[in-house]
Amino acid sequence: MGWYNKRLAKSLWVFHISGSPCNNCDIEILDLITPKYDVERLGIKLVGSIRHADVLLVTGVFNEKVAPKIKKIYEQAPKPIFVVAIGSCPSSGTVFKNSYNIVENRESVIPIDMYIPGCPPKPEAMIEGVAKLMEKLNG
Ligand code: SF4
Repeated sequence: MGWYNKRLAKSLWVFHISGSPCNNCDIEILDLITPKYDVERLGIKLVGSIRHADVLLVTGVFNEKVAPKIKKIYEQAPKPIFVVAIGSCPSSGTVFKNSYNIVENRESVIPIDMYIPGCPPKPEAMIEGVAKLMEKLNG
């Protein structure tokens, strides 16, 4: 698996899904592919299908309605897939905490490998988080 991880560390393909966010985190993710941040120069590419992805970015809290859909998307991903939770919603629930339809334990839906907190986190924080993931994969 070491060689596989090293290959991944050179080029991570990323698929992005929203739990039930306020959408600010999603807008910050889109910033990553603008010329200002241009993450493709680092080998990080947003892809349109989970079947092509190495990393799954999730934003927002998981509510009862979206949790089964998130689980289904995760199950369709080729393994290993690394799950990175963007924003404070997945870790703490932020303003949605204790809402009537929120799944409090996000990791009961899918395993989460890394949290990048912030409300929303800046693109620089996301790039740093993904760079740390690449570093970890490189061993
Ligand atoms: S972490 Fe903040 S900015 Fe991101 S989806 Fe949640 S409330 Fe919105």
